[in-house]
Amino acid sequence: MRSIAVLSGKGGVGKSSISASLSILLSKEKNITCADCDVDASNLSLLFGLYPKDYVEWQPISTNQIAEINEERCIGCGNCVDSCYFNAITFNNFYPEINRFKCEGCGMCKLVCPARAIKLKDVDNAHIGFANTKYGFPIASAQLVPGNSGSGKVVSEVRKKASELKSSADIMLIDAAAGVGCPVIASIANTDFSLLITEPTPSGYSDMLKALEVVNHFKIKRGIVINKYDLNKQYTNKIEDYAKANNIKLLAKIPYDKSFVESITHMQPIIEYKPEYTKVFDLIKKEILKEIF
Ligand code: SF4
Ligand code: SF4
Repeated sequence: MRSIAVLSGKGGVGKSSISASLSILLSKEKNITCADCDVDASNLSLLFGLYPKDYVEWQPISTNQIAEINEERCIGCGNCVDSCYFNAITFNNFYPEINRFKCEGCGMCKLVCPARAIKLKDVDNAHIGFANTKYGFPIASAQLVPGNSGSGKVVSEVRKKASELKSSADIMLIDAAAGVGCPVIASIANTDFSLLITEPTPSGYSDMLKALEVVNHFKIKRGIVINKYDLNKQYTNKIEDYAKANNIKLLAKIPYDKSFVESITHMQPIIEYKPEYTKVFDLIKKEILKEIF
């Protein structure tokens, strides 16, 4: 199974809109499965017209652990407080107390405890499930429980789920999280193509460069789409020059069009809301297929 990750660095540049339309066009030619890896704010399924009630399963999962202290064993030495890099332990009435929202489950406190009073326990830090789109392919999705960590591992679970849903699929389309952190790395690792969506603004340009650093580190084939290209000629030129100088294919330039926002409010992919866009998405699809098959 080949995999294509759509990522952006900067949020709000149209990544999920582009992922939705691209998936639909890919599904007309190939057998596909979809993974919504934006686990902090998953919304790709909305663009396929799916509501939370359409999820066949929506189960809690645990990809994280937190420390738990047995007060009966604790001798109050304070080693755990001093050793916690995340400042997740404080002393209260001579006993250490764990702040569950700060604990990263690293296990250091357990290692330094002379009384074996600390253990790590699993926490349900996300929900995961899947739905069947009306376009004939499934989508796996997850949502991190607010305030919890471990999103990178949750992303890996979403990819695993998407692959199990259709093990015969030719392609997995991955809608990656915004940014360049752990969930993005988990979204693009071992993929065959990264489609970078950017917009011509100083932050769009700088976040694209950061995202490209991650993509280049993994030596993944890549291409760029500039969304809202007509809003800022200077930065569009800058992105085009960068792509040319670094031998990165510019796959499309999409103009600013409020139809993109309208299509989201109507829970429709843009190629259905405004079919004129099919042509440009078809070109993006063809270029990517050429690269990965
Ligand atoms: S498991 Fe790690 S982060 Fe959590 S309290 Fe212990 S040392 Fe701190
Ligand atoms: S390291 Fe162990 S014994 Fe010492 S304060 Fe922490 S829990 Fe108690």
